[in-house]
Amino acid sequence: MSLVVYQNYVHGQSLSNDTGETFEVINPATGEVSYLVEVADEKIQQAAIESAKTGFAIWSKMTPMERSRILLKAVTILRERNDELAVIEVQDTGKPWQEASEVDVVTGADSIEFFAGLAPSIEGNQQQVGDDFYYTRREPLGICAGIGAWNYPLQIACWKSAPALACGNVMIFKPSEETPRGALNLAEVFTQAGAPDGVFNVVQGDGRVGAWLTTHEDIAKVSFTGEVGTGKKVMAAAAGSLKQVTMELGGKSPLIIFNDADVDNAVSAAMLGNFYTQGEVCTNGTRVFVQQDIYPSFIEKLLERTQKNIVCGDPMDPATNFGALISKDHQAKVLEYIEIGKEEGAHLLTGGQALRPENAPNGFFVAPTIFTQCTDEMTLSKEEIFGPVMSVLTFTDEDEVIRRANDTRLGLAAGVFTQDITRAHRVIHQLEAGICWINAYGASPAEMPVGGYKMSGIGRENGSETLKAYTQIKAVYVGMQPLESPF
Ligand code: NAD
Repeated sequence: MSLVVYQNYVHGQSLSNDTGETFEVINPATGEVSYLVEVADEKIQQAAIESAKTGFAIWSKMTPMERSRILLKAVTILRERNDELAVIEVQDTGKPWQEASEVDVVTGADSIEFFAGLAPSIEGNQQQVGDDFYYTRREPLGICAGIGAWNYPLQIACWKSAPALACGNVMIFKPSEETPRGALNLAEVFTQAGAPDGVFNVVQGDGRVGAWLTTHEDIAKVSFTGEVGTGKKVMAAAAGSLKQVTMELGGKSPLIIFNDADVDNAVSAAMLGNFYTQGEVCTNGTRVFVQQDIYPSFIEKLLERTQKNIVCGDPMDPATNFGALISKDHQAKVLEYIEIGKEEGAHLLTGGQALRPENAPNGFFVAPTIFTQCTDEMTLSKEEIFGPVMSVLTFTDEDEVIRRANDTRLGLAAGVFTQDITRAHRVIHQLEAGICWINAYGASPAEMPVGGYKMSGIGRENGSETLKAYTQIKAVYVGMQPLESPF
């Protein structure tokens, strides 16, 4: 049977490449090649830039209200197509339908709706200076590039394009080569909603196409989501033409559970923060610090619920709540970390092996895995694994846990569970992380700005904060008097 071939999306339509070069995309739950995608060759790259320039000339001249209406139309279409788009996310990522149908399209659409609402409120100011005055204009940057990771393909494309387009920019987006369809679908939605051609183009390929975006002189900004190591390369390349950057990178986030915490909620947080999307979430609370008195009941409940409530299998089965990892390579990497954990002396409480569920025997599954007796020095506690591997550590007092929680170069997220309201805020204020939760974990509404401290990122996504990152200020001085001059 011949496979479907997807093309790049340029100027409101699919565009075939000249070289005929394609890459394969594998369904992580079956291990089979699902379809092929054409690589963005030189023809596509040039066309994407020319198209973006044309699109920018039209889009940036539209009134914010007009842009807002088109973006809101896109939101309506995304919501109408929720189930169909969610299936594609399941097939490409291996995550459960249970999640994708409730979260991925919904949270992507929410972000576009949020920024569509803000678009008409973008304004400058005016100030008198003697008889003269100046005023400011918040102008778009121009052509922005978006480069995405594979864990939330459609949502990432929405989160990047929403503020960019709301501010009058256009975007050329490169999805991860492992999950190329979410962004293609979004491009179609924008076109259906009435966005002019060239406002959102999609180029396909691996890091080479990404690298091209980061060096092209006509691109004003790069918003990147991915690993810290790749983020460094992107930022270094962007420096060549002094592009602005937004960096959404990895984490090794602490989840701190004090003795007085509601133990059931704390267990829910630890499971959500390690096993949701089978552990492939950047904000995961993978270092679970548990205070000594609550430790026995916490571990007992955690083990019971992990062994009883996780349903691993075909992600399209509505009962499945735990899916397949993105690729065979990633599965091998996660299993290797588990071996290292055992060798370094952590206690394997549960999991630790690949799974072959009956209804998806060839998928890339790894069992939900919990290590206890972890120490700060272990590889498990230091490196981002990006899989379903939880490291549990114990602590005795507040100062100690804050110090240990901050003892990392990463700073994406953090969570605290306690009933003591003063302690909750006191501790959170001392944690070096950009996304924090008190008695909650993982929620990320469009209104809330998210991004990392330290090596977990630069800039924010979502929240009104982000508008500043997609506009530049033009100051205009207006002389009201004859110009004085010594010449
Ligand atoms: P990755 O860094 O391997 O790839 C990300 C993207 O960069 C892909 O599209 C890839 O093709 C592209 N790329 C690779 N080399 C490039 C180069 N030299 N120049 C430009 N682009 C290049 O990351 P991944 O494996 O796709 O995603 C997992 C990582 O993403 C994890 O570290 C995770 O924590 C992080 N992540 C962060 C957030 C966040 O918001 N902070 C969200 C999701 C994922």
